[in-house]
Amino acid sequence: MAADRRPDRQRELRHRLEELGLDLLLVGHPPNLRYLTGFTGSAGMLLMHRDRAVLITDSRYAGQAPAEARGAAEVVVETTNLWERVRRSLGGSGTGRLRFGFERERVTVRDAERLSGIDRAEAVPTSGLVESLREVKDETEVAAIEAAAELAHGALAEVLPTIRVGDSEREIATRLESSLRRRGTEWHPFQTIVASGARSALPHARAGDRAIGAGEWLLLDFGAQLSGYCADITRTMVLGRADDRQREVYAVVRESQLRAREGIRPGMTGVQADALAREVIVAGGYGDHFGHSLGHGLGLEVHEGPRLAVTATEPIPVGAVVTVEPGIYLEGWGGVRLEDDLHLGPDGPRLLTDGRTEMLELH
Ligand code: ZN
Ligand code: ZN
Repeated sequence: MAADRRPDRQRELRHRLEELGLDLLLVGHPPNLRYLTGFTGSAGMLLMHRDRAVLITDSRYAGQAPAEARGAAEVVVETTNLWERVRRSLGGSGTGRLRFGFERERVTVRDAERLSGIDRAEAVPTSGLVESLREVKDETEVAAIEAAAELAHGALAEVLPTIRVGDSEREIATRLESSLRRRGTEWHPFQTIVASGARSALPHARAGDRAIGAGEWLLLDFGAQLSGYCADITRTMVLGRADDRQREVYAVVRESQLRAREGIRPGMTGVQADALAREVIVAGGYGDHFGHSLGHGLGLEVHEGPRLAVTATEPIPVGAVVTVEPGIYLEGWGGVRLEDDLHLGPDGPRLLTDGRTEMLELH
């Protein structure tokens, strides 16, 4: 059985609270709750004190919360109003003034107002305290992402031979998602993208009614989730024979992706990592057609830190898991994106996906 990391994570978080002079952190973002306590429910508030952790949740989770959080947090079930209970807990602690942090990106204006008026307590907005811990993955987390990637590749391998001229994007998405489900994905971590022909130039195209024609692009961006951890993969192929222009654009994206996934190292900034891929696309003459960033962190959420982007000046921590997904998009013609997932350990990058990006012509 895997080691229980929750005490280490809580200890690390307490250390940060101490540095910030906070007596307590209020944690409500579900992936953060799961990371710190194991609780997988959709509603709960963790009061992360310096010396104990208290999870307040509602009656729907009266059985589940104590079972999942056992050994990591005391559980309080509130039957009327979660926020009132939080307010009472914060107001009634001790004689001095309580300085508590809350997750500024996760709390609505209304909830922030509720928190600001508590007697003898000061609400301090914080940013990314738990999220920054989550950027560094342990071996159990990496293994879960790798297993999710393997599941996703299995589904792709099952579906590719079934694709025919005239299939709609939605039909292909349905087959892919049903295979992912049969193979055990807990959920689709994001809406599956199936884009054909010129629609492949839309980086976030949903699967629509369009029927794919011979010689056209087919772009599939899909994922799987196991033990809460997500994999995120994109493959672009041609249905039938590729023409010269398709080959040329594909080759630039492939070279760009290979350069990034071989050259990326922890300690680089997100800007430097992004540049590895971007330079190849610029040199190929397509610099104006790679409009998004190179990649993002991957874990309990499909988009988390660190970001690999022209604005990401922070160094990438050792132990991060990131996607590398350059693309070229030509309006009215189509687009190519290739996406793989990497663990950035102390010895450099290791692929968690299969990394098979040779040009595929489906027949
Ligand atoms: Zn993706
Ligand atoms: Zn992605």
